[in-house]
Amino acid sequence: MDLLLALVGERLKAATSVAVLTGAGVSAESGIPTFRGPGGLWKSYRPEELATPEAFRRDARLVWEWYDWRRQKIAQASPNPAHYALAALERLAPAFTLITQNIDGLHQKAGSERIVELHGCIWRLRCEADGTVRENREVPLSILPPRCPCGSLLRPDVVWFGEPLSSEAQAGAFAAAESADVFLTVGTSAVVQPAASLPLVAKRRGAFVVEINPFSTPLTPSVDASLQGRAGSILPEILSLLPKV
Ligand code: NAD
Repeated sequence: MDLLLALVGERLKAATSVAVLTGAGVSAESGIPTFRGPGGLWKSYRPEELATPEAFRRDARLVWEWYDWRRQKIAQASPNPAHYALAALERLAPAFTLITQNIDGLHQKAGSERIVELHGCIWRLRCEADGTVRENREVPLSILPPRCPCGSLLRPDVVWFGEPLSSEAQAGAFAAAESADVFLTVGTSAVVQPAASLPLVAKRRGAFVVEINPFSTPLTPSVDASLQGRAGSILPEILSLLPKV
C-alpha cells in the first residue's frame, strides 16, 4: 500500500491536469448514508423506488418525505477530511476538475470551487411546470410536498434514475476526463451511468486512474492503482506526499 501511495503521489506531482469523480462514499464519513451498503434504506424503500419521476408522479408526498429526511441528515453534517483534502488538491494542481455525483453540497462547504455537479443539488427546488429553480434551505420543510408560487409542485433539482444529465454538466465532466493526466475515482460504486464510464474514458486517453474505496467495484480490474480503504484516511495521506502551497 505504501509503495502504491508513493506512486500515486509521484503521478500527482507530475500531473498538469487532474480530474476527480466522487460518489456517496466520500460523504459516508460525514454521517450521510450511501445508496448501496449499510444504512442506505429509509423505511425499507430502496432508493431506486423513490428517486424516479414515476415515484414522484405516483406519490409526491412520499418522495418528498424521503428527501426531507435526507435534507435533515445533510444539514447536520460537516465536511470530513476527504472533502478538505480534495479542496486542497484543487489548489495544488495546475488544472483541476471535481466531478461529483453527490447532491449534498459538502464539497463546496469544504472549499472546492471547480465542481461539476453531475446529479444536481438537494438544496435547490425546481418547478414542475416552468422549470424555475430556486435555492431552499428550510429544514424541515414546512409543507410537504412544497409548491411553487404558481401553484405547481416543486421537485428537488436532482437527476433521478432514468433521467438525462444536464448537457452542460455532462460535457464538462467528459472534457475533464478526456484531458486528465491523473483521474481519481473516490467513494463510488461505479454502477450509475454515465458517471461510471468517466474513469474508463480517462484511461483510454492515457490517464493514470486511481480508485479509492474500501471495497472492489466493477471498475477495480481496470484501474492503475486500487487503494482499498476509507477516503477520509487515504486522501489526506496522499496530500501529505505533495508539496505544500
Ligand atoms: P453508492 O451508494 O452506489 O456507492 C457508495 C460507494 O462508496 C460504495 O462503493 C462504497 O463501498 C463506497 N464507500 C463507502 N464508504 C466509503 C468511504 N469511507 N470511503 C470511500 N468509499 C466509501 O454511491 P454512488 O456511486 O455515488 O451512486 C449512487 C447515487 O447516489 C449517485 O447518483 C448520488 O447522487 C446518490 N447519492 C448521493 C449522496 C450524497 O449526496 N451524499 C448520498 C447517497 C446517494
